[in-house]
Amino acid sequence: MKRRDFIKTASLGSLTASGIAAPAVVHAGKKIKWKMVTTWPKNFPVLGTGANQLAKLITEMTDGRIKVKVYGAGELVPAFEVFDAVSRGTAQMGHGSAYYWKGKIEEAQFFSTVPFGMNSQEMTSWLYHGGGMELWEQTYMPFGVIPAAAGNTTVQMAGWFNKQINSVDDLKGLKMRIPGLGGEVLKRAGGTPVNLPGGELFTSLKTGAIDATEWVGPYNDLAFGLHKAAKYYYYPGWHEPGTTLEAIINREAFEKLPKDLQVIVKNACKVVNQDMSTEFTAKNNSALETLINKHHVDLRRLPDDVLAKLKGLSEEVVLELANKNPAAKKIYQSYDKFRRQVTAWHDISEKIYFDVR
Ligand code: CA
Repeated sequence: MKRRDFIKTASLGSLTASGIAAPAVVHAGKKIKWKMVTTWPKNFPVLGTGANQLAKLITEMTDGRIKVKVYGAGELVPAFEVFDAVSRGTAQMGHGSAYYWKGKIEEAQFFSTVPFGMNSQEMTSWLYHGGGMELWEQTYMPFGVIPAAAGNTTVQMAGWFNKQINSVDDLKGLKMRIPGLGGEVLKRAGGTPVNLPGGELFTSLKTGAIDATEWVGPYNDLAFGLHKAAKYYYYPGWHEPGTTLEAIINREAFEKLPKDLQVIVKNACKVVNQDMSTEFTAKNNSALETLINKHHVDLRRLPDDVLAKLKGLSEEVVLELANKNPAAKKIYQSYDKFRRQVTAWHDISEKIYFDVR
């Protein structure tokens, strides 16, 4: 008998001996096998390994009562079919980001990131303590899916370009891989946004099928070798200022779990949510150094007038999304209210501190 099973049996025994009825169901011996499908290439740094870590944590924290097996993009289902696979129960869990499902649920994009919107710290605060999580749960409810925040990229980079961006006009005709709301903004600036899964970026950029791509930040971009496919590396990541990554869970599978396992699954997501953010911050530093000093990457800041143009268009795009349906409006109102409040606070705390330190 395993040690934990023994302890459980022993404590149940003493409860019964003291005259209190033992709980009716004890699943201690039952092994549950879950599949986790992901939108990332197998073992991809931070994103894929974060999903692996989540699976491992759930298995360890439940002492093997739940075994989670992770599948990379395309192994069981293609990247963009992860949500459907979890919804119909082909897999019990998934790992990705909500803006990948915009074709199915447009307002889900608010739960990934909003161009010129909240950063990772603010986004996580809205989800956990500002009502965001409840709205996210309602959004996925009709699909039989439960969401959890499970990672955050922190502020991304604007991306890799084979054309210089010196003015607003340079965005015209630009064929760029950029998903979500950022893609719509680029379209209104005259560009052509393309949505491609991570695994296809390098070749598309190298062959000239696209002029530019955004991906994540220095650490991931270096791992993909994007510096070998493009000349210029632009910042800041206006389009993804703190993208929340999500774990999604099939509701039926979740509800079948005993209460303690449900608590473990949800809290394992919280652990990974924190850990992936800090890993990105830690590893982006050294990766940026490598890109500049070893690979002599041409690092450039987007001009102010380009950023101002993109910001104006972003406001338009976000407001249109907010007005598409009552559900989107409700999410936007909550998001926007929190953003205003947290900005007022961060203007005299984080921001001023960054400026003066
Ligand atoms: Ca990105």
